[in-house]
Amino acid sequence: MTVITRFAPSPTGHLHVGNLRTAIHNWMWARRHGGRFLLRLDDTDAERSREEYADGIRADLGWLGLTPDAEVKQSDRFALYEARFADLRDAGRVYPCYETAQELDLKRKVQLGRGLPPVYDRAALGLTADQIAAFEAEGRAPHWRFKLDHEAPIEWTDMVRGDQHFDPKLLSDPVIRRADGSWLYMLPSVIDDVDMGITHVVRGEDHVSNTATQLQMFTALGAVPPQFAHEALLVGSEGKLSKRLGSLGISTFREQGLEAIALIALLARIGTSDPVIPVTNAEPLIAAFDFAHFGRAPARFDEAELALLNQKIVHQLDYAAVKDRLPADVTEAAWAALRPNLEIVADIPKWWRIVTGPISAPARPAEDADFLHLAATTLTVLPFDAEVWRALTERLKAETGRKGKDLFLPLRRALTGLDHGPDMAALLPLIGKDEALKRLSD
Ligand code: GLU
Repeated sequence: MTVITRFAPSPTGHLHVGNLRTAIHNWMWARRHGGRFLLRLDDTDAERSREEYADGIRADLGWLGLTPDAEVKQSDRFALYEARFADLRDAGRVYPCYETAQELDLKRKVQLGRGLPPVYDRAALGLTADQIAAFEAEGRAPHWRFKLDHEAPIEWTDMVRGDQHFDPKLLSDPVIRRADGSWLYMLPSVIDDVDMGITHVVRGEDHVSNTATQLQMFTALGAVPPQFAHEALLVGSEGKLSKRLGSLGISTFREQGLEAIALIALLARIGTSDPVIPVTNAEPLIAAFDFAHFGRAPARFDEAELALLNQKIVHQLDYAAVKDRLPADVTEAAWAALRPNLEIVADIPKWWRIVTGPISAPARPAEDADFLHLAATTLTVLPFDAEVWRALTERLKAETGRKGKDLFLPLRRALTGLDHGPDMAALLPLIGKDEALKRLSD
């Protein structure tokens, strides 16, 4: 069996971290099994769906390297939905209803007032031909419900949540089509999952009760339902997916200079028993990916954790992986020397300027003047090679008796203008002999 997953966002807004996490898990599951990962744009809502959002979704997935093997748009598939709907109608599995929203609301209130679950009473199934004709004459068009089979218990083993049971008698027959003919999410999703051969549906736990009724739709369409994984929702560090995080587009992270792999590494693992680890590619995450490792508690997304993870990843990135994003004259040796100081790759010019100069060194205290003079004269006689920093500091230590901070800090300040920074042993050869002598003597 080829594993086929799908990520099914509605192009009615930007992807946020919660959606993206679902996309990542779908992608990883498919990749782990050598399967296919599809993008399905749920754009049946013509009013709210926009091509610019679809483009944004594609761009976000592209940046992250979550390239779908194929893409479909629900708005291209209305003929298929119409055909399957006709089959279900002929089989008596969908039925027309004429209640207004107010009438339904009133029914619910009465049920709740009596302490009963607000389940649709199927009154529409009892309408006579005359009553229906009267509604039609009034100009009332029906909306349509899927008729659940009350005798078929609903059960599945969820890959995250384990065994699930629902009593269909306690569920309302779901509305699948509005009076204006437009589709609600429920049935087209199932028709597509069947048609596209989806083997695993991975989505948020807010869809669990949808799954209960959708399972009967699969059966009614003569299909074997896929496997399901309903993951616990994502929350921010404060406890819920804040308005800010919920509306924060993925492009924000890209604009902050974060690495795509950092976002993947974090979202792949929060909410699971696997540790979040700094990786430079997704392979190790994919190889170990398993829904059995998912917990039932919400996954916490913490931007500070993302920043720290990003930093750890940047410290491991090879020159080849970043070359295109570096100033042209930053060599492999310079990258290796400067990398440990970066939070994001885009910080590199700040550190590269320490190598190329000019630097503005703080005024040097009088007691360091002779010491720095000695450093400059010593440097002129030493071979200026990869070992020059060690040779210089050993010589100065022997000659002056300085050690520790007294030895190193005046040198670092004179050579870089800073109290902290890259390893001087790597930095000094990059600065070069002439420039170093100039800085020591200034
Ligand atoms: N468009 C639906 C959503 O974004 C898809 C849910 C599903 O994966 O079936 O919630």
